[in-house]
Amino acid sequence: MAIDYQSLAVKGVQALSPYQPGKPISELARQLGLDPAAIIKLASNENPLGPSKMAIAAAETALTELCLYPDGNGFELKQKLSQRFGVGADQITLGNGSNDVLEVIARCFADASSEVVFSQYAFAVYPIVTQAIGATAVTVPAKDWGHDLDAMAAAVTERTRLVFVANPNNPTGTVHDSGAIEAFLDKIPQNVLVVLDEAYCEYMTGEKDPDGVALLSRFPNLIVCRTFSKAWGLAALRVGYSISSPTIADILNRVRQPFNVNSLALAAATAVLDDEDYLQRSREANTAGLKQLQKAFDEMGLRYIPSSGNFVAVEVGPHAMGVYQALLAQGVIVRPVAGYGMPNHLRVSIGLPAENEQFIDALAKALVAAGQGA
Ligand SMILES: *Cc1c(COP(=O)(O)O)cnc(C)c1O
Repeated sequence: MAIDYQSLAVKGVQALSPYQPGKPISELARQLGLDPAAIIKLASNENPLGPSKMAIAAAETALTELCLYPDGNGFELKQKLSQRFGVGADQITLGNGSNDVLEVIARCFADASSEVVFSQYAFAVYPIVTQAIGATAVTVPAKDWGHDLDAMAAAVTERTRLVFVANPNNPTGTVHDSGAIEAFLDKIPQNVLVVLDEAYCEYMTGEKDPDGVALLSRFPNLIVCRTFSKAWGLAALRVGYSISSPTIADILNRVRQPFNVNSLALAAATAVLDDEDYLQRSREANTAGLKQLQKAFDEMGLRYIPSSGNFVAVEVGPHAMGVYQALLAQGVIVRPVAGYGMPNHLRVSIGLPAENEQFIDALAKALVAAGQGA
């Protein structure tokens, strides 16, 4: 008798749908017979400046040692991060992207008997890692597209092991200031771990802006996750990290793959931390691009969710998939977010000024085309 191998997968995994990444430029070029150079991708919150020259140089130097295993403890990178944030190197856990760290956290601290709390419209990786380990996902309805922190605190039960908070959140761009995060942490029992995912924090510079690292000394149940993929411009290399108590970091270190961050990634991330100029330019380009897009949306009469990230979710109406397709036909890749339960929105990443302009022009045409098609 034929075995249904799908039925052998653990229950949570059977119910999973795979993470939907942004469409690669090469794929759209193949599908439409377009020149890849004519396509713009504003779909994966990538840094439009291109990588830091210092990062490229460091990765190139590391090429001569491709035959060697990486430093499994990431000594130099941890030293740099430790100095930058005034934390111990023993508080840092490195990951193959911060997604890797998020998954390791879930595997270390939750199992089939646990509940994991996160918000509606929160980053897609939280439900994936929760279901993959057979834990119960508790999705708390959002408030004005953002996390309802009071409701999330109220959703914690005796079975809750983990709470994921994306701040700013992707794909909504919503954020809570440091005071709100602190008040939230005050309500969470100390035996429940809070993962504060700050993938976009480098874009923020205001005084009240959230800084999870500053809260670590008060909250031993806090794990702060950050990444080199966004403002630091190293998405291809996959490097992220968490900062937590040494005890939690020690646990995470037992479960992570021994060489989860490769040598090129370690070298480039270590080098880019010295490139403050690059970070500054990333921030400035993002602030300007965000203004440019939000102003254009205002002029077009489109609603959007005010964003603190390097992307913005714009409401284009019930024909959002048609608008997406009409943008693709013009060589502009953005991100549909129906999978997040936001069927009327598209998420667009901030590009260079000319890219943003090209997107706005294409969007105006796409709205007409999609409206007529319906
Ligand atoms: C992009 C993003 C990450 C980072 O993912 P990496 O694996 O580090 O590339 C983490 N959390 C959120 C909310 C993100 O949007």
